[in-house]
Amino acid sequence: MARRTRASVAVVMYHGVTREPLPFFNWCQLDAGSFEQQMRFLADEYAVLPLTEVVDRLTAHRPLPEHTAVVTFDDGFRNVATTAYPIMERHQIHSTVFVVTGLVGTHQPPWTDRLFQTIANTPVSSVTFEGTDWPLTTPERRSSAHRAICKRLKQIDNDRKEEHLRELFRQLGGCPEVSPDSPLATMGWDEIGHLSRGGLISFGSHTHTHPILSRCSPEAQREELTRSRDILRDRLGSADLFAYPNGTRGDFTDDTKRLLAETGYRCGLATVPGLNGANADLFELRRVNVGADEGFSQFQLNMIGW
Ligand SMILES: [Zn+2]
Repeated sequence: MARRTRASVAVVMYHGVTREPLPFFNWCQLDAGSFEQQMRFLADEYAVLPLTEVVDRLTAHRPLPEHTAVVTFDDGFRNVATTAYPIMERHQIHSTVFVVTGLVGTHQPPWTDRLFQTIANTPVSSVTFEGTDWPLTTPERRSSAHRAICKRLKQIDNDRKEEHLRELFRQLGGCPEVSPDSPLATMGWDEIGHLSRGGLISFGSHTHTHPILSRCSPEAQREELTRSRDILRDRLGSADLFAYPNGTRGDFTDDTKRLLAETGYRCGLATVPGLNGANADLFELRRVNVGADEGFSQFQLNMIGW
């Protein structure tokens, strides 16, 4: 196994990194202690390269160092700048952050975390969704309701999902704004510009509004890709790296991959778990997905493609 994976690239996926407690379990927010331990491990055991360099080499069929890793963050959480960055800077680890351009500057996270924030703070004791009543009387019940509702909303057309969300927010007494100091807040252009100039972090597109692309019409998909591309080019000078929202094999199609290439992106990162060999599909790169419930030994196994 070690020999087979030596020639493979492990693209690690994070979302946020936090030192603050959350009202109930949030898979996307890894505690800073675990993140630090993983960064130390990567710095000691891997050649951690910028994503652009890995894409360059895979495109040109040039060899990669043994045990290559890439660090990525989806959604553009602000705590990547405030909490993860100082840790990565200490280890001189390069990373790529995929931002949702329509949310940059609003501090608001994608819809799954807006629903998380709303369910965490609602004064109501239950919510009805598709004929089922979900009690919200304990943190565990709020967590179950949030997970089940998100899972279902990811399976339906984007327009229907937005309708359901509006109805859910109405029942829950409105959708409170995420404050800039919340672990769920996202970065602004000032922070993105500052990090970009620092040279250790690159930025890529994670669409303009974070819909699941396979649940959108071809026109809406093209709009998501071109709009975020144009904004990133305008702000940062380039936009050729892309990560699919949600990113499982059902969340994008062959048409999505073709559209990505047509609109000037050079890669598409999925969340399909695994490593990438020399002949990997650049528009379907696999990742090692790290969630808040993952122990260090499981992380080490995932890094060798276990
Ligand atoms: Zn995302």
